[in-house]
Amino acid sequence: MTDDDKRWFEQISPKLRKLDGGRMMFWCPGCDGAHMIRVEGAGPGCWGYNDNPEAPTFTPSVLVTYNGPNAGIDGAPPAVCHSFVTDGRIQFLGDCTHTFAGQTVDLADFD
Ligand SMILES: [Zn+2]
Repeated sequence: MTDDDKRWFEQISPKLRKLDGGRMMFWCPGCDGAHMIRVEGAGPGCWGYNDNPEAPTFTPSVLVTYNGPNAGIDGAPPAVCHSFVTDGRIQFLGDCTHTFAGQTVDLADFD
């Protein structure tokens, strides 16, 4: 691994990492994984961001679909994670397929 490989993100707070291209990454406790969105630039696919890495707000909601562990087995749908990130907290909407659906929790720290 080169130095470049190790520095592909900038840790701007315990909860947020900034990547090339104006992208931000936060840790989702519902998916036990990171979600990435673009907050710089314009047009579709660009989220609003309150410029507060300690207590970020992103608008509109973040909708992620991916193949969960059961996808394709007995007609199981892809995993869905749909959330609002507001003031450093993440509100999971009812259409999430993980166990955090309907809950609001603090954004997790990257470790
Ligand atoms: Zn998620």
